[in-house]
Amino acid sequence: MKGHVMHLWSVRARRLATPIIAAVLLAASLTTGTGPAQAGSASTGTGDSLLPDVGTSAYDVQHYGIDLTYAADGSIRARTTITAQTSRRLSSFDLDLVGLTVDRVTVDGRTAGASRIGEKLTVTPAHPLKGGFRTVVDYHGTPQTYTDPDGSSEGWIPTPDGATVLAEPIGAMTWFPDNNTPRDKATFDIALTVPQGLEAASNGVLDSRRHHAGTTTWSWRQDRPMAPYLAMISIGQYQVFTSSMRLHGGRRLPIISFVDPTFGLLAHERQVLEDAIRHGERIYGRYPGTSAGIVVEDVGVGYALETQDRAVYDGTPDDLTVVHETAHQWVGDSVGLTDWGDIWLNEGFATHAEWSWTAATGGQSLDESFAEAYASHPANDPFWELPPADLGDPANLFAEPTYTRGAMTLDALRQRIGDRDFAELRRTWTTVHRGGTVRTRQLLRLAERISGQDLDAFFQAWLYTPERPAID
Ligand SMILES: [Zn+2]
Repeated sequence: MKGHVMHLWSVRARRLATPIIAAVLLAASLTTGTGPAQAGSASTGTGDSLLPDVGTSAYDVQHYGIDLTYAADGSIRARTTITAQTSRRLSSFDLDLVGLTVDRVTVDGRTAGASRIGEKLTVTPAHPLKGGFRTVVDYHGTPQTYTDPDGSSEGWIPTPDGATVLAEPIGAMTWFPDNNTPRDKATFDIALTVPQGLEAASNGVLDSRRHHAGTTTWSWRQDRPMAPYLAMISIGQYQVFTSSMRLHGGRRLPIISFVDPTFGLLAHERQVLEDAIRHGERIYGRYPGTSAGIVVEDVGVGYALETQDRAVYDGTPDDLTVVHETAHQWVGDSVGLTDWGDIWLNEGFATHAEWSWTAATGGQSLDESFAEAYASHPANDPFWELPPADLGDPANLFAEPTYTRGAMTLDALRQRIGDRDFAELRRTWTTVHRGGTVRTRQLLRLAERISGQDLDAFFQAWLYTPERPAID
């Protein structure tokens, strides 16, 4: 997320303008519904530094199978099958789900108890669990849009001709029951049945498209580990463009793009996607996914999102926005977060990828982009009061420092350790942690190992200190 900052002045201004008191109250209202009410359930929460009560550490999901039927009136009827593992003995466990009506829950084929408090669906199986288990949840209703602590809308978003899901950070629970944390990645099968005349986009590769009486089922398969927040569906009237491109190593990458016809053909934007993938392969190494594409829709949220393989754009994107969301396929999606407090790793890298694209296409150099960002924020600018790795509040997740100071941190690191070591750092980071999750200290250790320098004070100044770092 949530798009490329240059594109988001109104959204960013609203977010940055949020008074601290209001932000704290919003954060409290977000967490109280899921926190103390769950006392007694050992399985709730992950201990995340910003969103501690969302998701759980009690089990590990391997796979989600989602079978969802969308009706013309905007309602859904769905079944989500969750294959998971636990090393504990679980007499009950939690899933995250908001809104919707749960019709039935089974665990390993037997009916299980189900109760709901706040945003938790607590499942009590017939017998305590250990090891692998399979949960099936049948549910229906009209999904709700979720309002974030910063006031932005996410999760299930109705559109003029259907609906789009953009779920960073926690909107996944508006459309399927899940372990709603980025640290628990899984593979996905997503089958979407929609009225004839509508198309249905999602992540990964399209396995089949089957026509029935009055409906069409689109079956998507995501074979690579994916965080629940990156699962996307977009239902509406689209022009569908199918092609492929040759990746650096020779692999053929299928591309399927979905463009709302009101935005035209977007041939240029679809070409920029391919150029941005080549740019990503140059700086990070081989493309991490099994497919690619763009989804362009009138979503009305004011941001784009790097949903895995196939990012969603709220209207026609500019080139740098496509570069930003495509870079996230490596940094954010493949190399994911263990903790939301490290969001700068996603946004700093993706913003820095814009700077390196600009330098590679004849625009200003990295040195110039850094100098411009530094000069545009004088030492007394409140911008410096929010250190990117110490945001303190979920309302700050997508504030400007996450992006701009994050990118400045990486470029200051490049200037400190040199272009060659920085290039090695960036490529090693995305290779070693491919498909996994990371924390900031792992980047510090890797940068120290590659450069042979002690970088503790450098990271402290750029990421954890509420003031403008000095530069030479
Ligand atoms: Zn982003």
